[in-house]
Amino acid sequence: MNVKKHIEQLRKEINTHDYNYYVLAQPTVSDFEYDQLIKELQKLEEAHPELVTQQSPTQRVSGEPTKEFPTVAHRFPMLSLANTYNEQEFRDFDARVRKVLEIENYATRQDKGEQVGISQAQQAQDDNEVEYIAELKIDGLAISLLYKDGVFIRGATRGDGTQGDDITVNLRTIRSIPLKVFEGQHLPDEFEVRGEVYLPRENFERINKEREQEGEALYMNPRNVAAGTLKMQDTMIVASRGLQMFCYSLHSADSSSAGNYHLENLEKIKKAGFPVNPHLKKCASINEVLEYVAKWEKKRESLSYDIDGVVVKVNSIAQQNILGTTAKSPRWAIAFKFKALKVETVIKDVTWQVGRTGAVTPVAELEQVFLAGTTVSRATLHNVDEIKRKDIRVGDHVFIEKGGDIIPKVIEVIKEKRAADSKELEIPENCPVCGTPLKRTEGEAALRCENYVCPEQVKRRIAHFASRGAMDISGLGISLVELLVEQELISTIADLYELKKEDVAGLERMGDKSAENLIAGLEASKKQSLARLIFAIGIPFIGITAAKLLAKEFGSLKKMTEANKEQLEKIDGLGEKMAESIGRFFEDEKNIEIIKRLASFGLNVEEDKAGSGTSPGVFEGKTFVLTGTLPTLTRVEVGELIEKHGGKVISSVSKKTNYLLAGEKAGSKLAKAEKLGIQIISEADLMKMVSGD
Ligand code: NAD
Repeated sequence: MNVKKHIEQLRKEINTHDYNYYVLAQPTVSDFEYDQLIKELQKLEEAHPELVTQQSPTQRVSGEPTKEFPTVAHRFPMLSLANTYNEQEFRDFDARVRKVLEIENYATRQDKGEQVGISQAQQAQDDNEVEYIAELKIDGLAISLLYKDGVFIRGATRGDGTQGDDITVNLRTIRSIPLKVFEGQHLPDEFEVRGEVYLPRENFERINKEREQEGEALYMNPRNVAAGTLKMQDTMIVASRGLQMFCYSLHSADSSSAGNYHLENLEKIKKAGFPVNPHLKKCASINEVLEYVAKWEKKRESLSYDIDGVVVKVNSIAQQNILGTTAKSPRWAIAFKFKALKVETVIKDVTWQVGRTGAVTPVAELEQVFLAGTTVSRATLHNVDEIKRKDIRVGDHVFIEKGGDIIPKVIEVIKEKRAADSKELEIPENCPVCGTPLKRTEGEAALRCENYVCPEQVKRRIAHFASRGAMDISGLGISLVELLVEQELISTIADLYELKKEDVAGLERMGDKSAENLIAGLEASKKQSLARLIFAIGIPFIGITAAKLLAKEFGSLKKMTEANKEQLEKIDGLGEKMAESIGRFFEDEKNIEIIKRLASFGLNVEEDKAGSGTSPGVFEGKTFVLTGTLPTLTRVEVGELIEKHGGKVISSVSKKTNYLLAGEKAGSKLAKAEKLGIQIISEADLMKMVSGD
């Protein structure tokens, strides 16, 4: 291939990865693989400078602002960092820094007793040396916070480095971000503090556990969830996720109140109330930095958040100014990135798993290995394309990687270790459970079993319907669902509501009491909201957020079944893929039949039946702000209740807020609401308003 073509192809490939990573938050290759592509492109461009263009990914900070939030221009560009995965390149960075700062030169010349004139560089350093600050590289998202007169004014994502998304409302939900700084730190009147917003591992695991229970696709790693969360429109969900932040720099046009050293600035912002990572270290030499890198590469698992490397910065601001920046990154800093944790193992078998929507996913059954704190015996192979691309075969030695993800994946086949008689993997033509020929729709990666009564699909569909985030039927977990299906007591979600106590009581491990509980659980589930019901019936690609939009738009399942594609696509927040999926789902008579039966059992197929006797819309046009912990309701439940009655929950108190719903340990919002004279209510008051008492 000629060089120009090669360069173009690399740029195209990188642009696709950028889009997957920054816009969709769904990368398809590891950071290491991505960084190798960038390096290859850089090398080619260095050898052929005539082929460099301004649009090349090597010349700009990747990423872009989205359309969902107002775009804001950064006062100081938000750059990326040069990175390396190896020690030599790291030492090269140090050598370059010294060369520009003429440090070696000056020292040796002085040694020789030469009279050395005062250069700008020499003035910049106190002791003719370069001092580094080594910091953990938090694996999250860069955010810039703007303060005026000590008050948080605006927060934005990095975007393309010049412009980002104004996500102030979402950032205000992060408790560690000070809305007002502590006084006495002599900070400039106007300044920006930058840092990394991240999701602690514990919260990541909790969110994924909830998603698993709700039958939703699991998130890949905490960074992706943090990225996705910051771009959500619903601040209540953002608040519930528990994002956190570490700040790592101070920027201001007024240099007189900023410090002369990076470390000094960090201490300053820390004292002003910003969260600064406690593990940073001042290092007198690059060797000391390398010791720090080695220590944290080993200890990274002991932290409660993910790090993907170490960032090293020249401490003196004057030296930083001399070194300057390129279009993409500062010359006074570099990231030493850790490779994701990976181990070698063997694929013993590949099995094909049937999901509730009929998607058939390949799973590698592995020789058991220990990786990043857990024993691993299975890894996802994603889809057929992925298997073909990596040429994965049974018996292969492979590297599997976890790097923060809870589901390990096969990243590379060790081809040298492959047996001579190894055969390409056979892709099943029929469903492994019911034998129906599998189909692949254009544009979709998954193989699908389209047999609606495939026993595995039936079980998973019903388990999803009963799950906590859907109809929340207590006493109905996956094992009982399996039993009920195997005993041919149920085969659809509607059959559940025809179950009798006697049918269930006689089953293995069930008694009168558990049978009673199940029937009561089913009865109670009839009161669940329309949005939950829409989510629960299991239309492919329709998660709870889309279900809420649909419930709001149509107010009835019947109306929703009659909607055409154009009507569906018009709904803000619903994509083409979702609209098509809804259309396909309701074309099927069986699904219509099930919905009719659900209606006949008294489920909430119409939104306004939900309030059972209350007037819908008692909160029409009213806005609520929540603060503190309520005695009985969770934030999600109270949000649902308010929305069900036409109200809206917003995140911050303003003059326009109608009610502040305050629970125990109410925070600063309470004080603000009191000051603004906003009506403050308790959970009990809210319930009274709902019931019209
Ligand atoms: P980066 O993540 O390599 O480094 C820069 C970022 O580090 C900063 O913007 C900041 O957000 C963060 N950071 C964390 N701790 C810090 C600290 N203490 N001080 C300063 N900064 C700190 O660079 P990037 O520009 O954000 O992202 C580019 C990288 O993202 C690539 O090198 C690649 O590894 C990854 N990427 C991967 C894919 C993929 O498909 N896998 C695609 C695009 C980008």
